[in-house]
Amino acid sequence: MALDETQLVRGGSFMFHPAGTLPQFTPEESGEEALAIAEAARDFVNGEILPRDEAIDHLDLELTRDLLAKAGELGILGIEIPEAYGGLDLDKKTALLVLEEMAKQASFSTSYTAHTSIGTLPIVYFGNHEQKTKYLPKLASGEWCAAYALTEAGSGSDALGAKASAVLEDGHWVLNGTKAWITNAGFADVFVIFAKINGSHLSAFIVEKTDPGISTGSEEKKMGIKGSSTRAVILENCRIPENRLLGGKGKGARIALGILNVGRFKLGASSVGAGKRVLEYTLKYAGERTQFGKPLTAFGLVQQKLANMAVRIFVGESMSFRTIGYLDEALARTSWDSDTGGADKMKAIDEYAVEASMSKVWGSEALFATADDAVQTFGGAGFSAEYPAEKIYRDCRINRIFEGTNEINRLLIAGTFLKRCGGTDGLPLAAAVAAPLNLPEDDLLRLVALAKARALRVIALAQSDRGPRILDNQEAAARISNLLIELYAMESAVVRARKMTAAGHRWAGLARDLAEVHAQEAWNRVQADARMLAAELASDGVLDTLVAELLAMHAPAPAALSTLRQRIAQTLVDQGRYPISAL
Ligand SMILES: Cc1cc2nc3c(=O)[nH]c(=O)nc-3n(C[C@H](O)[C@H](O)[C@H](O)COP(=O)(O)OP(=O)(O)OC[C@H]3O[C@@H](n4cnc5c(N)ncnc54)[C@H](O)[C@@H]3O)c2cc1C
Repeated sequence: MALDETQLVRGGSFMFHPAGTLPQFTPEESGEEALAIAEAARDFVNGEILPRDEAIDHLDLELTRDLLAKAGELGILGIEIPEAYGGLDLDKKTALLVLEEMAKQASFSTSYTAHTSIGTLPIVYFGNHEQKTKYLPKLASGEWCAAYALTEAGSGSDALGAKASAVLEDGHWVLNGTKAWITNAGFADVFVIFAKINGSHLSAFIVEKTDPGISTGSEEKKMGIKGSSTRAVILENCRIPENRLLGGKGKGARIALGILNVGRFKLGASSVGAGKRVLEYTLKYAGERTQFGKPLTAFGLVQQKLANMAVRIFVGESMSFRTIGYLDEALARTSWDSDTGGADKMKAIDEYAVEASMSKVWGSEALFATADDAVQTFGGAGFSAEYPAEKIYRDCRINRIFEGTNEINRLLIAGTFLKRCGGTDGLPLAAAVAAPLNLPEDDLLRLVALAKARALRVIALAQSDRGPRILDNQEAAARISNLLIELYAMESAVVRARKMTAAGHRWAGLARDLAEVHAQEAWNRVQADARMLAAELASDGVLDTLVAELLAMHAPAPAALSTLRQRIAQTLVDQGRYPISAL
């Protein structure tokens, strides 16, 4: 598949371009303005947030509100809000750099993202001029805080099955129902609430906390992110003016699902930021704690964990920035000046739904593995609330649940990808399998090319053999997703490392080691998933042929990863942190 300079990269198309040939944005290419804002965010987090870590986690909501207002003064609540409505209207890359910093305190980061992302963006993309004028300047400054209320007790993953109702009476909407698990509910001034008009048209409404008939339940007692507010939102004949309908009657699914895509990109990026902090305190502890007369950092199995933490950061960041590069490119071709500006922007974001879900799934699972490695490295101290590893282990668990559980996201990745492979203008799955395999010179790119070929062979079989029915077998669908996620992660990391080498980046050698460790490990996982997926698909007799065919495809020799990991760990120990930073 060739791409000329005027064409945008299509969502999901990464599987069909020869390894390493698509354009890819990396954090190292961030512009000065973005870096200046990210630096301000870092100073804010280090100076204002982290010193108040304990108070925030004791659910001091007044403090969280004050801190959000301070973030507003710095401009970092308005990054994605148009200038005409009091924001900075900067690109998503800037939002991502800032989010990585915010993610260093999980509870505050949750409040921040619920406000700036799922709370505010529905109004940014779907609000009319009057609504934007009324709400956005106050949301940008932090004078008002926002929340997004979609989930109900009976409809979580099945989010569109909401029961909350809206009826138009005398120029007012009357809302009834109860929303569950709403972040920021304890202090939000503005709620974007989803309810069905006349029982069938899911729609979004802007509700203010002072409107009659809205109240909140008590705070949920949670496993982690204990400093973020999570409550039910209760609507009892809640009356709001007719002009608070957002985006039009029946537009609720469009708004809800579109905004969740943005949330998913961001969750991937915040997992990277949190991982950097975990690695930093784990390095410190492992350097100070001695056993058998040596610091923990001298032991190979501790080095393995430290190196793997850095690998996950590098890979997750490469994926996030790659996707955000495509997204910014697409958004740059839309304009707020057009009547359909908001809808056009949302459409541009939708294009990368597969990539958004992949970042969310990969990032949340990578951070959980990192938190687990941190607990293990701390030993008994990892199990104690006196030390930080225990907290991140609890805090990051939610990332696999909200913004769509990872199960739902895996089903979406496979479903959307296969759907895009159908039709005349679809992604060329059958043709890609038939095409001759050209292997690049670079050994890591070759690994990516071979892994892609294997994955495509099996996914194509799934498509031709079962069609959309393959999704009925959820385990098979999850394996298709795993293959896609592995390939995107592998290629993003390898390409970024190559770009760093080409640019003579100070940490190019480290980047190459990180990419290689990941690519080698990912290769094994791709092999395993491809074979297991083949087993789900092939009928008797065909399976043997297919597995033999997969095995016969050229496979590179395995590399000794312990040497690479030791080298990575040594660099981390010397630097005392993950050293690759755009800032
Ligand atoms: C701390 C916290 C903050 C939150 N903040 C918000 C917020 O601000 N706004 C908001 O609207 N919501 C929010 N949520 C809700 C959150 O989005 C939901 O909890 C989530 O979508 C899962 O829904 P559920 O809890 O009903 O789980 P369920 O949907 O009951 O799922 C339970 C399990 O079944 C699996 N499952 C469900 N359906 C399928 C299927 N079709 N195939 C395979 N597996 C399936 C799930 O993956 C999961 O493992 C928050 C939740 C929490 C815990």
